[in-house]
Amino acid sequence: MTERYRCLLLFGAPGVGKGTQGKMLGQKAEFVHLATGDIFRSLDRQSELGRKFVEYSSRGELVPDDLTVQLWREYVRGLIASGRYRPAHQVLVLDGIPRSLPQARMIEPYIFPLRVIHLAAPNIDEMVRRMRVRSEKEGRHDDMDEGVVRRRFEVYERETAPVLSFYPRNLIEEVDAIGSIEEVHARLTAVVARIYTPSH
Ligand code: AMP
Repeated sequence: MTERYRCLLLFGAPGVGKGTQGKMLGQKAEFVHLATGDIFRSLDRQSELGRKFVEYSSRGELVPDDLTVQLWREYVRGLIASGRYRPAHQVLVLDGIPRSLPQARMIEPYIFPLRVIHLAAPNIDEMVRRMRVRSEKEGRHDDMDEGVVRRRFEVYERETAPVLSFYPRNLIEEVDAIGSIEEVHARLTAVVARIYTPSH
């Protein structure tokens, strides 16, 4: 079997700040941030997969698991082939995958999770508000419609939240996601520093 990718799994509800925090972590040489939502958004909308993405995301739903995992695997292989991810030296920060129990099972043979970092926020209304602001700033059309956003939370509760129980409890770190970007980042880096020290 091929070597498993060491990774930190960034976990949490839509709008909780996974992307922002993941990008910040990814600026350090020892981490590579990989967000499946970003991969999907970068697809050609006329391609078959690009059309599927629009079809599902515009309803606030998940793209089917097999397509998602296949795309993820190809993307990681591309990162390795182009030298942007060096598995022996770097840790993948996975953001937005796995998002369902089948995905957790499907990617299991390929990953070695160092920890699952749960960015936790109790207040859904605050998340909905953040997503509205973000959708305007970043042109994320799927998040402009409040009905679609609510649907994303239902899908999160039903399909994604159970993923936490897939991983052993001792792998899970809770990080309070309420506060400024800098505050949350400080909490996150304190946790990450405990988990992983680069070897060189
Ligand atoms: P995000 O930027 O993470 O909020 O993702 C935007 C949209 O991409 C989601 O609403 C889904 O339609 C799709 N998506 C992203 N990651 C996944 C995943 N792991 N599984 C299925 N669909 C995904």
